[in-house]
Amino acid sequence: MSAPTKTAATGTTVLDAALRRLPMALTAVAAVILLAWPSITDFYSYNASYYNGLVASAAISAILTISLNLSMGFGGLLSMMHTGMQLLGGYAVAYVTVESGLPWPAGVALAMLLGAVFSGLVLMISLRATYLYFGMITLAANLIVVEGGKAWDGVTGGVNGIVGVAPGGLSKVQFYYVTLAALVIVYVVQRNVVRSGVGRAMMAVKESPDTAAAMGIRPVRTKVLVFTLSGAIAGLSGGLYALQLGFINPDVGILDNGLVFFVGLFLGGIGTLAGPVLGVAVIAAVVELIKDHARYTTLFLGCTLLLAMMLVPKGLVGTWRSTRFGRPPEGEDREPSGALPESVLPGAVDPEVPALEGRGLVKHFGGVKAVDGVDVSVAAGSVHGIIGPNGSGKSTTVACLTRFHQADAGEVLICGEPAPGRPHAVAERGVTRVFQAPHLFAQQSVLDNVLAGMRGREKYGLPSAVLRLPRYRRREAASRAEAAALLAFAGLSGRAEQPAGSLSHGQKRLLEVVRAVASGPRVLILDEPATGLVPAEIDALARLCRAFRDHGLAVVLIEHNMDFVMDVCDELTVIDSGKVIASGPPADVRSDPAVLDAYLGRPDLVEDLT
Ligand code: ADP
Ligand code: MG
Repeated sequence: MSAPTKTAATGTTVLDAALRRLPMALTAVAAVILLAWPSITDFYSYNASYYNGLVASAAISAILTISLNLSMGFGGLLSMMHTGMQLLGGYAVAYVTVESGLPWPAGVALAMLLGAVFSGLVLMISLRATYLYFGMITLAANLIVVEGGKAWDGVTGGVNGIVGVAPGGLSKVQFYYVTLAALVIVYVVQRNVVRSGVGRAMMAVKESPDTAAAMGIRPVRTKVLVFTLSGAIAGLSGGLYALQLGFINPDVGILDNGLVFFVGLFLGGIGTLAGPVLGVAVIAAVVELIKDHARYTTLFLGCTLLLAMMLVPKGLVGTWRSTRFGRPPEGEDREPSGALPESVLPGAVDPEVPALEGRGLVKHFGGVKAVDGVDVSVAAGSVHGIIGPNGSGKSTTVACLTRFHQADAGEVLICGEPAPGRPHAVAERGVTRVFQAPHLFAQQSVLDNVLAGMRGREKYGLPSAVLRLPRYRRREAASRAEAAALLAFAGLSGRAEQPAGSLSHGQKRLLEVVRAVASGPRVLILDEPATGLVPAEIDALARLCRAFRDHGLAVVLIEHNMDFVMDVCDELTVIDSGKVIASGPPADVRSDPAVLDAYLGRPDLVEDLT
């Protein structure tokens, strides 16, 4: 379809291609100007150091905004304490350079450490807080830092702060380049983290902690990591800020001063890589232009924030990316094809021991006995169907097996061993679940969704991702190859770059299944996966189930599509009103009087069954 369009409109295509490169071109121009800036100002202005300072300050603000972007945009953690962490960083540098006379880089290192430790602590005490409550806790933390700074005279210099802070040994122009280099490094760190398994885990936890846990990602550890990293960068920004200002005092930490970062972030585009830098650059330029009316600056910032939220809710970068020039080329549907890549499948489990077993599971919700003494044993190398009318307790049984619900009674065994208590730990032991309700990461690309599923198997951490060490490169290359094969299997290879939210319903379901497979489970639990799938997709699902079985692994299939169930299942467990009413091979179960009885109210189901 795309070929004729191209020949008919070659002019547009050339323009398209040029506009697609616009961001790169602008970045290159900006880089040249920034590198030459001190020479330019020296040549054109009597006040060169003022204009150099302007850009250095903007760079420092951009660093803080990237930090805010990491926690809010990528980590989903609303932070009102970033100015406070900046203040902490400033104190660290001031204390080290002025009070103890050590070189300024030591101060900057301490600033980063302080930022990381402080943010880590705040996160630890607020692990259970929801988005808004977390925001309020950070607001309180910010107040504590600012007021603590005022009160702790001996160390912080109280309300007057500490003066005489300077980057010893550096000229103003050299310091300008230091801030620029710091911005570039922080930007690269942000990019490398976000485009790695570490960043994909962060975004998975942000979008759905439950789904992340089901794939073996640890929600708490992930949040700690992103917020601590964000804190370290905020500390760095604060340290540089004190060096730039020449002093530090509690005013730096008050929330009002954070307005510019929020405005920059939302104007540029929260959750994008370039958004924070672009947003801050625009704000800094405009604030400079209206400096003769400085008392209106805050009013101006407030209005800008309001307008940005209303007119460009995705920010400048996000809006650009949703235009024809900024978004990935439209994908195409392909037939599911190819085999399940064997490299994602773990080694077979012991065929003698049940791969997954629930004994006497009980789960009551108030008066509702959702699960009432269920025994289920899933053999290795089998597809085990769980069927039963709506509301009979199938999903709740699965939730108990995977520890998303704590059962009121009963035990769960994985390969004969007692199951751990937390969902992510169950996933680490090889039991992965796809939820009945869709849980895709809609904003992420189809490919990134699959890659996120692999995070639990990846063995590299933050340093490898940031520095792109061989360990990271090898795993990333392998992950991408596996993901490509999985997407081909699901018929989604033509849509890898699209946001997952733009897929059809059936494709979304299939993508969720594929993402779960990517985590390398030994037991794959699918809760009504075939709903809304077209025949080719159901066929892919059936091939997937058989591939698992033939590999010595297990699939648990909750499903209403009886043709599909009868076709692929080796064993069935039938649940009604929270109790197992029949189990065994499909042929036996379908003629079981108890089963027919339970389905009597549903002639359609009886028809399918017999
Ligand atoms: P199925 O998956 O077989 O359709 P479920 O396991 O979802 O059934 O639900 C079984 C029963 O438990 C239903 O009556 C449902 O309303 C109830 N139930 C399920 N989850 C909850 C919950 N989180 N809180 C209260 N009741 C629930
Ligand atoms: Mg259900």
